[in-house]
Amino acid sequence: GCGICVKKCPFNAISIVNLPDELEKNVVHRYGENMFKLYNLPIPRLGNIMGIIGRNGSGKTTSIKILSGLLKPNLGQVGADLEWDDIIRRFRGTELQTYFAKLANNEIKPIVKIQYVELVKRRLKGRVGELLKKADERGIVREVVDKLAIKHILDRKTSELSGGELQKFLVAAVLVKDADAYFFDEPCSYLDVKERLRVAQAIREFIDVSKKYIMVVEHDLMILDYISDQVSIIYGEPGVYGIVSKPYGVRTGINHYLEGYLPAENMRIRREPIHFRIQVDTRVKPETEYPILKWTNIVKTYRTSGFKLFIEAGEAYPGEVLGIIGPNGIGKTTFIKLLGGILEPDEGEVLVSVETISFKPQELSPKIFPEETVAANLRRASPSTLNPASWIYAELIRKLGLNKMLDRYVADLSGGELQKLAVAVALAKQADLYLLDEPSAYLDVEERLSVAKVIRRIIEEKRKTAMIVEHDLMLQNFVSDEVIVFSGKPGVEGYASKPMSNREGFNKLLRELGITVRRDPQSGRPRVNKPGSYLDRQQKSIGQYYMP
Ligand code: ADP
Ligand code: ADP
Ligand code: MG
Repeated sequence: GCGICVKKCPFNAISIVNLPDELEKNVVHRYGENMFKLYNLPIPRLGNIMGIIGRNGSGKTTSIKILSGLLKPNLGQVGADLEWDDIIRRFRGTELQTYFAKLANNEIKPIVKIQYVELVKRRLKGRVGELLKKADERGIVREVVDKLAIKHILDRKTSELSGGELQKFLVAAVLVKDADAYFFDEPCSYLDVKERLRVAQAIREFIDVSKKYIMVVEHDLMILDYISDQVSIIYGEPGVYGIVSKPYGVRTGINHYLEGYLPAENMRIRREPIHFRIQVDTRVKPETEYPILKWTNIVKTYRTSGFKLFIEAGEAYPGEVLGIIGPNGIGKTTFIKLLGGILEPDEGEVLVSVETISFKPQELSPKIFPEETVAANLRRASPSTLNPASWIYAELIRKLGLNKMLDRYVADLSGGELQKLAVAVALAKQADLYLLDEPSAYLDVEERLSVAKVIRRIIEEKRKTAMIVEHDLMLQNFVSDEVIVFSGKPGVEGYASKPMSNREGFNKLLRELGITVRRDPQSGRPRVNKPGSYLDRQQKSIGQYYMP
């Protein structure tokens, strides 16, 4: 058998613990002796958008660097500066041979949307509108600005942009370039659901896939599914080696990834399947419990900015996780401040309020980590987090893998590692209400699942309440008991619904976005319907926007 499969394997599969020796022929790049090794590459193909899924540290960005010509592969010969001819010969007989031949001859002009948008603040100085105009080789800047709805940021300096605004600016700057190969490395971090869909649509609309190569790395599987035609899965051991799979059709590829078994290579990539429990109806509330929070209909206006927020009455119980969906600038933080008594309502009242709130902000600035090392930040949040015998150490620190990086410096952490630390710091603190704003940003699918499980477990155990702002709908559906949907006009007025079942809340959101989502029969995961397709029309006609 494969050596890791929990069931009796009928396929006599190979797995990441019994890799064949001949695989060594397939090394594409190695950073140094005893350093990360990449096997195979995803294949850029005209006519197909290629999606890439895989764990953090498995070689996704490395693959993009190689295919975009930023990194010349050494085929595993550390220190060698190979001739392009050698590299091309290595891929003889494969689709990559032609690709590399063109790349070596400068017949392919590549462009990359980089993964960490924050880096741009330092590297690209100036105003968004001017920068976009300068980048605009195709004369489509107006249409792109319209499609991504970024007109209001054109006069702003890059240094003043929020994470989501930076993301949209960078996607726009890539779309207006006249390139032959377009690479999008995680284009959805910091974006709300509507913006994610817009980015997905813009990639299809503005790049002619029959003439251009397009590749997208994305961990929001509903969006990756929506953008891509095919997917390649990168598996292996994060930080040690990564192996790129053959291309699969997008639906089956994502399902195989979740299942943990790749049939075309007869390879088991993980011990257990990843299973997002998709629960759409509300959990029954225990009759004996008192709400931890209770509020009437509330109206709040900021006199200085004029922003107006209308809140529907609701309540929250101990052990409950409430999902929050809605765009930025719609009043989510204002809502939380009202619940915590930091702000007073103009009309209505908070009947049962909380005293302390622990908050994980959306953007991971150094400000939220006052100490230098991982351990010191955790100790500061709560001393017991570092006691290996404590419950919180077992359920929080170890489950997020932070025990392996306690001595590391915050400044050296990757985006995903920073995120896990931020979530742990927020959950370790003593509070009545926990607010986590986009805990999934920069996390891979497996980390998203573990963070979601950790949140649920800790909130249930502490008998407190958490509110989770999360735009990855599959994850949001998994983590929350009920959802509050914010709608309205960002910056002008917001409406917060009462807490409702996932089904009701997602229906409301998707109806406003005009898209429908079905359930994949095999994996149970949500899939976006093609606009105008039979299912799309049918679900709209009966008002079932979310997984009937
Ligand atoms: P992913 O994008 O899938 O998260 P990357 O391709 O960025 O992964 O990185 C894969 C592995 O290679 C990681 O362990 C990373 O630390 C390592 N790595 C990336 N760049 C370098 C480099 N320049 N030198 C040495 N190791 C590197
Ligand atoms: P979200 O958390 O959904 O991003 P916020 O509640 O932070 O939204 O903000 C909603 C709107 O209210 C935004 O337009 C914001 O600029 C405005 N706003 C937030 N705080 C204040 C304040 N103290 N005074 C005036 N306007 C504010
Ligand atoms: Mg990466």
